[in-house]
Parts: sequence; structure tokens; C-alpha cells
Amino acid sequence: MHNAFTGAALDRVGDSRRRDLDWLAAQLEHPGARAVVAGDRGLRIAEDRLELVPLAELDGGEPLFLGFDSAGPVFAYDEDPPRDGRVPMVGSGGVRGEPPKDASGDRIPLRQAAARFSRADGGLAAYTAALLNWHRRHRYCSACGHASDVIEGGLTRLCPNCGAEHHPRTDPVVIMLVVDGDRLLLGRQAVWPTGRYSALAGFVEPGESLEEAVAREVHEESGVRVGRVDYIASQPWPFPASLMLGFSATYESGEAAIGDEELQDVRWFTRAEIEAAAAAPESENWGTPGDPGGELALPPRLAIARVLIEHWLAQTRPEAYR
Ligand SMILES: [Zn+2]
Repeated sequence: MHNAFTGAALDRVGDSRRRDLDWLAAQLEHPGARAVVAGDRGLRIAEDRLELVPLAELDGGEPLFLGFDSAGPVFAYDEDPPRDGRVPMVGSGGVRGEPPKDASGDRIPLRQAAARFSRADGGLAAYTAALLNWHRRHRYCSACGHASDVIEGGLTRLCPNCGAEHHPRTDPVVIMLVVDGDRLLLGRQAVWPTGRYSALAGFVEPGESLEEAVAREVHEESGVRVGRVDYIASQPWPFPASLMLGFSATYESGEAAIGDEELQDVRWFTRAEIEAAAAAPESENWGTPGDPGGELALPPRLAIARVLIEHWLAQTRPEAYR
């Protein structure tokens, strides 16, 4: 199973070397040191891949150590470090609702990057954007409000005032197919393109297991109760810092009806409807808000929801989806 934004082929060096200032300085001065460069306009590219810019060509800033690839140390470099005031996300554009900015010049929005890049570059783009975005939005200590410092090459921030250490956040989101024999329960948000339905999803709340989050979200959004919950796969979703945890949940009881304000519609689809939608060419329409429409349109392959749906189709009829 291949999920976009997975597959970064780096040794992240998650050990004590990151706390060794001499070792970190040596990585910054390494002749093979390069950086993934990202900013408000997106990620810097060269043709169809991420451009790894020699660190010596970048002026100032605070490169964050991502890890090693086969050619040496790789850093993340924010070319538009935030000033006070508005703090946009690195590599944004076309994230939710709004049409993507043109992939013009040598910058590309993160969302387009995953569709266009190799698996390893898609993973590296996600890692870079998630880390830079966290630093952009966590410059001050959340305990005392003092400006904090980067340590461990960027894997931690340390508050010099109160000593608190802060680690990059990853927000867990459960996303699930509700399965009842050969039909699936899917929902749509009003901002999605015409016809688009997808898996139900929601943030895990404090003090909640993943299975409990699945059952609660399904009930809140559709009024349906589920029984057995099976884990399928996960995907980093760096908009800005989610981890999508994909499940299949078995329908138990209840009529499907929209429960909270999040969804415009929720309903069951037959296997035949889903097969037809899976066979249709992928829509280039990323975000023009539409209506429920007549024909089902599945989410793009970039999204784990699509991967879960195709996994369900393949599991129950393997010969058709090899
Ligand atoms: Zn503090």
C-alpha cells in the first residue's frame, strides 16, 4: 500500500549526536551539506524533483538538520522566516477548498509536490514542511511565553527562561470506512467539488483510544454505531501536522443521517457505484466547492481515504484490482 507523503529515505539520526554541538557544526560545514528550501510560495524544485541546494549557497537563516541521505547531511531551510504578525504555512496552496496556485517557476505547493514527486521526495517534502511549520508556529515557550531556542538540530526547542523543552507536534486523526457487507458509508463537506464523497474523519481527543475515536466520530457525523474496528494504514498529512490513521469499522446499527455541522451529506454507496468511481479518471478539480451531484467522485489518490477505498475493493475482489 503506497500513501503519498511517505517514503523519505533519510537516516534521521534520532540519537544523542543531535545534542553534540561540535557534531552539528561539522554537519553544517560538511562539503556535501544540502538543504530542502521551502517558503511561502512552496518548495523549491528542479524539474520534477525537490532541489537539494548546497548549504553554502544559502545566506543566513537557521537550517534544521533532517538527517543523512547517501550523499551527506540534508537540512530544511525556511526562505521566508516569519516576522511578527501573520504566519502562513510553508508550502501552502490548494490545501482545502481554494484552487492550487500555479506550479510555475521553481516553487511548487506541497500538495502538488506529492502528486508529482517520487515517493522518497514526497516523504522528504512532508518531513520538511511539517518541521518548518512547527518552528514557524512555536517560536515562543507555551509554558512561560519567552522566546525559545532551537536545539538538537531542530528536533526540539528549549526555553532559556523556564527550561521547558518542546517537541514537534503531530496531531492524530482517525479516518475510517464504515463497512456493511458490500456497501460503504461516505460523507461530503460542502466545500468539496461536486460529487466528491470520502471517508469520515476526525481528530483524536485527549484521553481517548483510537478505537473510541473511530466510534465517536462515526456516531457524531452519521448517527451510525460501529462494532469491530480494524487498523489498515497511516499517512502523514502535513497541513500542518496531522497523522492520518486509517481504519475499517464494521456497521452495527442506526440510520445514516448528518449529525454535526461538519458534513453536508452522508450516505451509503454500493460496491458498483464505488467501482465505477474508482475507474473514472482522476479529477483535476481540487477544490471548487460544489454540490452532492449525481455521480460519485472519489478523493484523489494523494489522500489515504482513496487508498482505503481501493484497499477495500481489492480485498473483496482481488482479481479486478491487481
Ligand atoms: Zn518557558
